[in-house]
Amino acid sequence: MPIDATQPYNDSNIFARILRGELPAKTVYEDEFALAFHDINPQAPLHILVIPKGAYVSWDDFSARASDAEIAGFVRAVGQVARDHGLVAPGYRLLANIGVDGHQEIPHLHAHIFAGHPLGPMLAR
Ligand code: 5GP
Repeated sequence: MPIDATQPYNDSNIFARILRGELPAKTVYEDEFALAFHDINPQAPLHILVIPKGAYVSWDDFSARASDAEIAGFVRAVGQVARDHGLVAPGYRLLANIGVDGHQEIPHLHAHIFAGHPLGPMLAR
């Protein structure tokens, strides 16, 4: 079920629990600002989620409330993860779903990195 991205942050969400170490994740990158791990249900040969360590519901919440350092740290982390996986030359897709129409299911901002084969044109439908 997609979430309402206008609701306040709820720290019982799955990614908050991963950040607290209460749930396992296949971590590929971590720094002061971000954590990256494999998606549990990959939609491409490589499917990584990058999340900020701060408590932000969505891209909207993050872009409105996060500090400049958090925003820079998160954006740099996404780029670093892609470079670490050798994705710049073959290319990859970056996606953040927001709210109901975006079909966001977990109410903690996450950027999807899809890669590993030609992804085709994006379907907005
Ligand atoms: P959304 O639709 O919110 O943009 O994407 C949520 C993503 O989180 C989905 O791709 C889903 O497979 C992934 N996901 C859901 N639960 C877990 C989990 O417990 N661990 C991991 N690693 N990924 C999860």
